[in-house]
Amino acid sequence: YTAKLRNDGAVVYDAAMDKSSEKSLSLLSELRKAIEREQFRLYVQPKLLLGSGQVVGVEALIRWVHPERGNVFPDEFIPFAEQTGFIRVLTGWVLEKSAALCRDLAAQGVHLKLSVNLSTRDLLDQHLPQKFADILAHHGLAPSSFCLEITESAIMDDPVRAQHTLARLHAMGVDLSIDDFGTGYSSLAYLKRLPVDELKIDKSFVLNMEHDEGDKKIVRSTIDLGHNMGLRVVAEGIESAAVWRLLAELGCDQGQGYFMSRPIPCEQLPAWLVQWQAPGTAPAAPA
Ligand code: C2E
Ligand code: MG
Ligand code: MG
Ligand code: MG
Repeated sequence: YTAKLRNDGAVVYDAAMDKSSEKSLSLLSELRKAIEREQFRLYVQPKLLLGSGQVVGVEALIRWVHPERGNVFPDEFIPFAEQTGFIRVLTGWVLEKSAALCRDLAAQGVHLKLSVNLSTRDLLDQHLPQKFADILAHHGLAPSSFCLEITESAIMDDPVRAQHTLARLHAMGVDLSIDDFGTGYSSLAYLKRLPVDELKIDKSFVLNMEHDEGDKKIVRSTIDLGHNMGLRVVAEGIESAAVWRLLAELGCDQGQGYFMSRPIPCEQLPAWLVQWQAPGTAPAAPA
């Protein structure tokens, strides 16, 4: 790659190497331009209480609106951004946009928790807690208005340093969530040691759970495990009323999925909320 990570975490550009790829701009230089040209968009997906249908938060999901390639999904550039260290720039962007959204909503009397995804590289960044604190202070927000989602593999990459960063973040008062739970290779012992507040069951277990006994058993056990450890349990990938109902019956606390809403541009959230709350419009929460 044409990027190097300096000791202070900044990404520096290696001009000599880039000459060799004059024809096709490197993805990294495209990502850098995308930031300057404001091609990233903050999308959000509502998270709601499965018992009542009340919206309690949103997950921030980044999109890249590329001039030629159209909407580029995070799976196509997040792994690359992680390898090059550029993810720190993206994470800073997402935190900043999410904080601005949270403040704007609060000004309208809407109080939602913002969930933001972090990557391994973020957990190894010793400056992250301070950067996050600065963003919160700038927007006048409490740390409790954020939930930071991390994956098991991000923790396993360097458990000691990850644990240190997570402890500092948690001490600030931010919620921590283990994302894609069940798909990583982590030891359950980490659950005991890490200061987490939430478990997110991976969508691969949820999507088809009303037809797949194995998935249903895994989901049920994960909900019980989370509750036994005093954690809030969230399901992602709810695509039908049947799965919503089943999860509510199993006692799952919160959920998100295409059945309620696909990720939408953050500007559209206030209108979506109005529509969701209007009687008769939104699908009724299962009894
Ligand atoms: P994730 O954090 O597990 O996010 C959930 C993914 O599941 C999102 O995909 C969301 O659109 C999708 N999803 C939600 N409900 C449903 C459903 O009912 N059915 C199906 N089939 N899918 C559903 P998305 O937005 O493409 O993001 C993919 C992954 O990229 C995320 O997985 C996350 O790991 C990463 N990502 C997204 N935005 C960011 C970001 O700002 N920073 C970092 N570090 N990673 C991000
Ligand atoms: Mg997530
Ligand atoms: Mg997830
Ligand atoms: Mg997932």
